[in-house]
Amino acid sequence: MKTNIKNMTVKELETFFGNIEEKKFRAKQLFQWLYRGAYSFDEMTDLSKELREKLEKEAFIEQLKIVKIQKSKKDGTRKYLFELSDGNTIESVFMKYKFGNSVCVSSQAGCRMGCSFCASTIGGLNRNLTAAEMADQILSIEKDTGEKIGNIVVMGTGEPFDNYENLSQFIRIINSKEGLNLGMRSITVSTCGLIPKIKEFANDFPQVNLALSLHAPNDKIRNMLMPINNKYNVDELLEVCRGYINKTGRRVTFEYALVKGINDNINHAEELALKLKGMICHVNLIPLNNVLESNLKGTERDDVEKFKNVLEKKGIQVTVRREMGSDIDAACGQLRLRN
Ligand code: SAH
Repeated sequence: MKTNIKNMTVKELETFFGNIEEKKFRAKQLFQWLYRGAYSFDEMTDLSKELREKLEKEAFIEQLKIVKIQKSKKDGTRKYLFELSDGNTIESVFMKYKFGNSVCVSSQAGCRMGCSFCASTIGGLNRNLTAAEMADQILSIEKDTGEKIGNIVVMGTGEPFDNYENLSQFIRIINSKEGLNLGMRSITVSTCGLIPKIKEFANDFPQVNLALSLHAPNDKIRNMLMPINNKYNVDELLEVCRGYINKTGRRVTFEYALVKGINDNINHAEELALKLKGMICHVNLIPLNNVLESNLKGTERDDVEKFKNVLEKKGIQVTVRREMGSDIDAACGQLRLRN
């Protein structure tokens, strides 16, 4: 079987070149080509013809196929539907902000976490993405837009901590100076709360931002929305987040999707504020995107404001997520679902 070279760090490429009896310094050259967006060995003109032919026999360069692009006329947001080599599809989103361009990356084809408001989990988990497939979402989008990406959020389809090994490799690769050179602090990983992995993550990547999908102030509501809460409950999660903050010195972002009539009244806000009291954190309120398959609805704008005000009064840092690409918006994961 051919070697998937986009799955490798520079160090691993050096070993690879050693194994095929080539000079180690070729690793850096090849790696630079990959992350400048080369998709064939023939483009790598500073490698000899013989070496390029050898590489062609031994290795391949991962390339996702663009199936569909939805472009927002309002703010430049683009949603991509990619097809993987085995026919699975995934979504990624390109967003333009004042501070730079951002890509929302998928970590799995499908998801097995079963959150009741999320379209990505409806068909269950098909498989984990490789580091190469995660990295190529960024490269394909840079190529298509002609723009440089400065920020990565792992908030697309899938639970990144359910694919921890490949996620870690992906972070090491995109952080590499010889490649995309994305700073650890420019990367955010969002999880539904797999506690053992949050602890590992604090050790392995103390500078990468952590976002936690909380979505409820107590177990009664969270159990209803997120089955994973039956395994790792709200108090345990918040305890682990406190540990994370102590260890890394970094704040945690709590994502809170406001679901009409479920978790969005003033009492819920007060309960949440009490739970988060004294923590170095930030709450990101997201009016729920309606998902056709579910009868849960997003909270009205006025009620979002009321919820926000309660948190602010209690001294909790809070923002309401800006709706990017609202004109192309099918809820998270719906582009994939419809195809
Ligand atoms: N599995 C990870 C990351 C992917 S989901 C996680 O749970 O964090 C990224 C974010 O989108 C999560 O906060 C998730 O709860 C949220 N989300 C999923 N479906 C949504 C919807 N219909 N409306 C608003 N946010 C949604």
